[in-house]
Amino acid sequence: MRDTINILDIPVDRITMEDATRRISEFVNSSSYHMVFTPNPEIVMLACNNTDFKEVMQRADLIVPDGIGVVLASKILRDALPERVAGYDLVQNTMKQAADKGYRYYFLGSKPGIAEQASQKMRTKYPGIQIVGVRDGYFKAEDEPAIIEEINNSHANILLVALGAPRQELWIDKYSSQLQHVRVAIGVGGSLDGMADVVKRAPEIFQKLGLEWFYRLACQPTRAKRMLVLPKFVIEVIKEKFHKE
Ligand code: UDP
Repeated sequence: MRDTINILDIPVDRITMEDATRRISEFVNSSSYHMVFTPNPEIVMLACNNTDFKEVMQRADLIVPDGIGVVLASKILRDALPERVAGYDLVQNTMKQAADKGYRYYFLGSKPGIAEQASQKMRTKYPGIQIVGVRDGYFKAEDEPAIIEEINNSHANILLVALGAPRQELWIDKYSSQLQHVRVAIGVGGSLDGMADVVKRAPEIFQKLGLEWFYRLACQPTRAKRMLVLPKFVIEVIKEKFHKE
């Protein structure tokens, strides 16, 4: 039974990093497909403005607060989430156990060459890890049946999908009944770029201070436009708080 808090109609799990890592292990050992999403405030706002996307988010099996803004929203709503659970770190935590637990990853997304580069780095970082397939995220709709077949033939049980929101979540939902061996599909945003080392993760001090978003903005100023939704997010959360009271 999930313990969630609704943030603008998105049910975010009240869960620690440790428990989220354990939940993924349970999913892998189950006999069905699970969807894991990692929203930040931008993604929550996208869902507010797109009913189909919101419905997909609401069908998730696990939603972790990737952005510190989602944790702050829970505090404004006086129902604090225990901690930020960054998608990147969650995936890394699963990888630490990958060799022992028999996880088989497929990396889908990012620019050509990046998923392959990420797989090589992860093989060095986590000896024994099985990365059974990779594919870039710049494909056409007509390529999708072949991609599904390739993922099925790879026998991957964990699928990382890095196509950006909302495309990655919609994709994960669309193919839920066709992915035969995948037990967990995770929307990971820019994580493959991080694993490949083409986008640097914020230094730990920024992460600890809840300022990773600021570091990423400084490194990728093109993100500024996307961040314009943040004040609107805060206003919507405050409105929800007064509505609840
Ligand atoms: N991407 C992709 N196909 C597309 C558009 C984007 O594979 O058609 C990839 C892009 O290369 C990047 C990821 O999707 O690796 C999205 O990263 P972003 O930084 O937007 O995600 P965030 O971490 O902010 O959710």
